Amino acid sequence: MKVLVVDDDQGSLLVAKAAVEQSGHQCLIAEDGDEAWKLYRSERPEAVVTDLEMPGLNGLELCRAIRDDGTDSYTYLVLVTSHRSRDDVLAGMQAGADDYVSKPLDPFTLHTRLLVASRVTSLHADLARYRVALAEQARTDPLTKLFNRLKLTEDLDELDNRSNRYGQDYCLALCDVDHFKSYNDLYGHPAGDKALQSVASALSAEVRRSDRVYRFGGEEFLLLLPHQSLAQAGILIERVRARVESLRIDHSGNPSGVLTISAGISASVQGKWTAGQRLLNDADLALYQAKAAGRNRVELTRAGH
Ligand code: GH3
Ligand code: MG
Ligand code: MG
Ligand code: MG
Repeated sequence: MKVLVVDDDQGSLLVAKAAVEQSGHQCLIAEDGDEAWKLYRSERPEAVVTDLEMPGLNGLELCRAIRDDGTDSYTYLVLVTSHRSRDDVLAGMQAGADDYVSKPLDPFTLHTRLLVASRVTSLHADLARYRVALAEQARTDPLTKLFNRLKLTEDLDELDNRSNRYGQDYCLALCDVDHFKSYNDLYGHPAGDKALQSVASALSAEVRRSDRVYRFGGEEFLLLLPHQSLAQAGILIERVRARVESLRIDHSGNPSGVLTISAGISASVQGKWTAGQRLLNDADLALYQAKAAGRNRVELTRAGH
């Protein structure tokens, strides 16, 4: 662990430093609260062992500042109190301290406190990792590994904000597999799943790095294309359509004999208030037109009509 020891008394500081290092930890030192706060911000130690009374921020203020800092990692806080007064200890715990030791500092006592600190901070680190993994999982479609609808809702909100604030344009493309129900009927549901995975990979392979691909529903995929005009998006999605066709996945229930997709594209209009939900409706309408016009094709629409 990286441990920050704070004390305005040189003697106490050296005793604590030696104890921390004997316990096998790396030790940083600060001689007042302000210096400690700076070091904390730049070094992010896992544990802080701090005196109560010192120049600059005092021990309680330092504890509060660290607790209010709002980072994902947990810092274990040990107060060093010379008063042994219950009020001091209580105030320290209320300010966010996890534990306290009394002066003069006993190295063995500090050693045992740091064992706990190590366990607690590593538990917190585990939790933070699980939290990130869970958040990712909640936004991922398990079959295709694409982003899912929850993630789309969040990203659309963000994009709408940027679009309305900074005039950033974007397009939406809704792609739907043609005659997919009959594909399942002809080849079975597991083959249908595999086909969806192949389509998902084809979509992801064709788009730019800044574009995002989502599984919108069963056999529907949504592409979010920032900084693209409708015409550019049309060219890109036509390439996507051709790529899916070139996979040559047999589909005897489709007039072309292979699996194909249809797509509808909508675009935000500069200077007009953009609402992702309306663009979704527009793309859906264009998709409907592509289906009506014979499928395996791309249709464009414009927002605000
Ligand atoms: P259209 O060309 O008009 O889009 O016709 P379609 O048959 O594709 O349209 P429809 O919406 O009637 O059928 C969609 C089918 O997609 C029905 C459903 O069983 C299938 N489907 C949805 N999700 C999955 C999935 O996860 N796996 C498989 N294998 N099939 C799925
Ligand atoms: Mg002091
Ligand atoms: Mg559909
Ligand atoms: Mg379909």
